[in-house]
Order: sequence, then structure tokens, then C-alpha cells
Amino acid sequence: MKNTILITGGTGYIGSWVTKQLLEKGYTVRLTLRDKKKKKKYQHLEDLASNSTGKLEIWEADLLKEGSYDKAADGADAIIHMASPFTLRFKDAQKDLVDPAVKGTRNVLSAANNSDTVKKVVLTSSVAAVHGDNIDMQEKGLQEFTEEHFNSTSSVSHQPYSYSKVAAEKEAWKMHDAQSDWKLVVINPSFVLGPSLTANSDSESLAFINDMLSGKYQTGAPDLTFGYVDVRDVATAHLLALEKEDAEGRHILAERTASVMDVAEILKKQFGKKYKLPMMKAPKWLLTLIAPMFGLQRSFIRRNVGYPIKLNTTKSKQALGLKYTPLEQTLKEMVEQIEMQK
Ligand code: NAP
Repeated sequence: MKNTILITGGTGYIGSWVTKQLLEKGYTVRLTLRDKKKKKKYQHLEDLASNSTGKLEIWEADLLKEGSYDKAADGADAIIHMASPFTLRFKDAQKDLVDPAVKGTRNVLSAANNSDTVKKVVLTSSVAAVHGDNIDMQEKGLQEFTEEHFNSTSSVSHQPYSYSKVAAEKEAWKMHDAQSDWKLVVINPSFVLGPSLTANSDSESLAFINDMLSGKYQTGAPDLTFGYVDVRDVATAHLLALEKEDAEGRHILAERTASVMDVAEILKKQFGKKYKLPMMKAPKWLLTLIAPMFGLQRSFIRRNVGYPIKLNTTKSKQALGLKYTPLEQTLKEMVEQIEMQK
């Protein structure tokens, strides 16, 4: 019998692809979600399971409830801990982002400690745990960000999502270092794009592309640079981290870095004038002025707009052996899927 893998966040945008790949490889997947009654959150995964060699088990657990993952971890060989809110539309940063990320990591890793069977934990962190604002690269005198770097500029009040990710990853390393039963491997994806298996995710990945296509940035896009990676490659990286005996440490994932305008240009080449894509860069002074209308902080605009970044992804290619899907293909297939659903 193939190994049993407990996955948190397996119902989400990235998690659904990880679950699919695990099921196709014959694993028993122990999927946790907050509310088992919400069947539409995992119906797509049950459909996938019925056409694959793997087995799907549905368990209920909540990041904020102490001991919530203990039963599900008992008998699991490894844990993929992915659950964490990825949203910019929150009311209370501490309660809505930081607590589920940090307390959740503590709860899930305590379950690993309490089980006699878990030997490996793969944690979905983010490049947001590597750096905070894009200006950090310049301020720290760096040519590029590598796995050695930790975000030191985010806080609950400035870039709270990024803060939630670095605080959670640091908690994971602390708990890892205090024991010797399980190994920790961390995946640090940049901005994830590509087709979605679920129509029920709040992920900002899906919101971003919908905003681009619907004309939100038509009169001017912010001059923001991000790393981008295909959702299917992110899933593959998790499986490689799980299966490779010698996998260790952190892994930055990005096919390339590109500005929002670069992404718009790729989409224009592929889809012509079909969508109200951005026509130009928006001036920074204007963005600073209107930032609150877009739910953004002025300090975010000041420290990110106009500052390119470089991400070193050598380790993901050499140590994990990950091969990246070109951004052009990722975008094309993501938009084609959205069109099919209309
Ligand atoms: P998503 O679709 O919103 O998935 C989030 C998952 O977290 C859902 O499965 C949700 O499960 C679970 N979750 C949220 N709050 C929870 C709570 N209180 N208790 C239990 N489960 C909870 O987001 P995603 O884009 O796939 O992101 C997944 C992970 O990747 C996150 O850790 C995110 O930080 C990381 N990441 C994402 C990106 C990106 O660009 N998308 C980049 C880097 C890293 P329920 O079914 O219970 O709602």
C-alpha cells in the first residue's frame, strides 16, 4: 500500500493540484477542511479520486483549534501543510491572517510531534517569507534574493499577509529544530498562476487575473514586479519535496520575474483586443493618491512600485529537479479555462 499523506489546505487553488497529483500517484490522501458539510469545496477532488489509483479521505480540522489535527496525523507518513488564508480582503490582520498562519502551523506541527508515524513535513511558505517590500533588495544591498534571506520588513500593520507567512515559517523551523522525529522541507512559491481545479477558492491568484481581464487596470497598471510560477509546477515541487530523500531546507519557486505590464503584453499577444487590458503604467504619484480605493496602503506603493526584484531559483531546478512551465503557456491556459467556464 502507498503512503498516507495528510494535506491541510488541499481544497484550495494550489492544494487541489497537489491532491490530484498525489491521487494519480496512488497515495492515500487525508484531506482536512474546516467544514465537511461544504461538499462543493471537495466534490471535484472526490471526482478525481474515483478516476485514480489513490484513495481520498475527508477529515475536519481547523487551524485555530488546538489539537484539531492530532487524530488525522495519527497513522500518516507525512504532512503537507498548506492551509493559510491568502487574501488581501481582510478586516483584522491579526485575527484573519496572522493567527491562522502562525497558530495553525503550531497546531499542525504539534500533531506531527504527537504522532508516532509522521517522518516528513512539507510546508507551503512563500517568497513573502523571503522578502517583504521590493525595495528591500536595494536597501539590503542585494543583487538577488536567495533561500538565505528572511523577510524582515513586514509587520501586522505593513504587508500583514507577508508577515503571516514569514512568522509561520519561522515558527515551523523553531519547532523542527526542537525535535528529531520528522524532517522539514519548505516550498517558497512566488505568485502562482494557471488553471484552477476549484471554483470555490478565495485565492488572490484568481482575483488578480479576473481584475486584469475585466479592465480594473485598463487606464494604468501599477509598475509592480513579481515572480510568477505555474500552479501545476508548484504542486510538482511539493511532490518532489515529499518523495526525494535528500530534499532539505527552503526552495524559491519562480519561472521568471515580470511586471504587471509585461503580463499584460503577453496576454495582448495571445488574446488581442478581446479584454480591457492595461494600456500603460500608472504614475506612482497617482497610485499613492488612490491606493486606499484599491485597498492598498500608501506605504506599500512607496516601497514596491518601480522597484524590480531578482529571485534566485537555482536550488529548485538543481536540488528538486523542477522544470518550469513558461509564463506564456501558464497565462494562456488560465485564461482559456476561464473562458470555458463562462
Ligand atoms: P486558497 O485557494 O485560498 O486556499 C487556502 C486553503 O487554506 C483552503 O484550502 C482553506 O481550507 C485553508 N484554510 C484557510 N483558513 C483556514 C482555517 N482557519 N482552518 C483550516 N483551513 C483553512 O489559497 P492558495 O492560493 O491555494 O494558497 C495556498 C497556500 O499557498 C497558502 O499557504 C498561501 O499562503 C500559499 N501561497 C500561495 C501563493 C499564490 O500565489 N496563490 C503564493 C505563495 C504561497 P477550507 O477548505 O477549510 O476553507
